[in-house]
Amino acid sequence: MAKPAPATSRIVTSRITAEVAAAYEPVIGLEVHTQLKTATKIFCGCATRFGDPPNSNTCPVCLGLPGALPVLNKRAVELALRASLALHLKVQESSRFARKNYFYPDLPKGYQISMYELPLATGGWLEIEREGAHKRIGITRLHLEEDAAKGMHEGFPESGTKTYIDYNRSGMPLAEIVSEPDLRSPAEAYAYLTTLKQVLEYAQVSDCNMEEGSLRCDANVSVRPRGTEAFGTKVEVKNLNSFRYLQKALEFEIERHIGVLEGGGKIIQETRLWNVAAGRTAAMRSKEFAHDYRYFPEPDLVPLRVSESWMARIRSDMPELPAARRERFIEQYALTEYNADVLTATRVTGDYFEKTAAVSGDARAAANWVMGDLAALLKEQGTEIIESPVSAENLGGLIKLIAQGKISGKIAKEILPKMLSSGDAADVIAEREGLHQISDTGALEKIVDEVIAANPKQVEQYRGGKQTVIAFLVGQVMKASRGQADPAAVNTLLKGKLV
Ligand code: ADP
Ligand code: ZN
Ligand code: MG
Repeated sequence: MAKPAPATSRIVTSRITAEVAAAYEPVIGLEVHTQLKTATKIFCGCATRFGDPPNSNTCPVCLGLPGALPVLNKRAVELALRASLALHLKVQESSRFARKNYFYPDLPKGYQISMYELPLATGGWLEIEREGAHKRIGITRLHLEEDAAKGMHEGFPESGTKTYIDYNRSGMPLAEIVSEPDLRSPAEAYAYLTTLKQVLEYAQVSDCNMEEGSLRCDANVSVRPRGTEAFGTKVEVKNLNSFRYLQKALEFEIERHIGVLEGGGKIIQETRLWNVAAGRTAAMRSKEFAHDYRYFPEPDLVPLRVSESWMARIRSDMPELPAARRERFIEQYALTEYNADVLTATRVTGDYFEKTAAVSGDARAAANWVMGDLAALLKEQGTEIIESPVSAENLGGLIKLIAQGKISGKIAKEILPKMLSSGDAADVIAEREGLHQISDTGALEKIVDEVIAANPKQVEQYRGGKQTVIAFLVGQVMKASRGQADPAAVNTLLKGKLV
């Protein structure tokens, strides 16, 4: 990719008032690249492992050496088919690879093998939810392609004058997913991308890790006067490698468009780059200088045919998707819609909750602990459930101890942070620290007697008919037992002794 050129369209200097902004409607379509979770690259046997030393996973095919021939990775196709089904796309019986020709050092062959006029799948949708409202976003197409190598501009000797290239990424399997221009705000675009990520993760198609580049997004955006039909001239924004940048870049770009139009100018159709440091987009290349990719069918690969029986196998291997799991959680565990949403946010969270529910035998309590105390503690530590030091088995075990009357709910809340720091099971900690609930009536009676002796005034009031004083006395016993007494048992014992 070329270094960003100076901006050609005018720069917005005055801020747009909310009133002016409201007169325009943004139109947005996203192009998302997701790396398919295969062990080897799309056209050769090189490993796809992330983080290996530069240029250690290469061969004549992914280095683009003359005469090397590509062989299509079946697993990459299967994962792309799975993604297509999850996104309600229609898989084409026959699709075809094409050469997209351009000259750049990260592309050793001088062309990228992609799909063009015959993509793998077309015409799907993804449902997004915002503030309780549901909306279907059309998906135009999904196609397979190979990734380019990675140019490295920093951190090497002579980085000032030289660009280094890591060909490990060359030939990584990608699915490109192109949305219809159905999104109407940066927030909708954000919701689309998070929902898409969730579906692809659930379908186990991709890790969707934006930091590692296994999920990348380009945004197309235009504005039109609200109430009109025709789309405005669009701009493509690249380099959006986080959800926040997507939203920020769109907000910036929409305001810029409105500023240009309000000032009597015209939007130039161009590609722009999001500049993280400057917090703005800048022109990269305009349509006049747009590449003519001279696409033509890839002669080294036969057309890709997908049989009905293959599709049937893909369908039957499909993991449970977020919407289905949400429904099932509401049914099976009697969860509220909100709780089901939170607990299915990621596959890992859902798995964790289900295991906790199974071990504890109490789904409602499991939901409360996972979303409440555990979530709060993990957040405090800056960790996530995927790396929780408290296993689902152990959280289930903690809940079970409460149900069995072995510890009180209050003690359980004290034990959980200790589980987090030690990784130990709840009963191990309760045993070690003597936190088990006092089940020995003799021991409990002793404390009750002491409390009665120490509070003659309250005892007299109770005997005189002031029933509510019992709460105070129960509290005193709980305090004396350091929370280890069972409040119900204390209540019964006290009442028995005070008649
Ligand atoms: P191009 O020919 O520039 O590749 P496409 O029609 O293939 O454009 O669309 C590419 C992406 O741009 C798609 O995600 C599509 O939804 C989006 N798009 C198309 N037209 C507009 C527009 N006027 N405003 C915003 N997004 C658009
Ligand atoms: Zn290779
Ligand atoms: Mg296009």
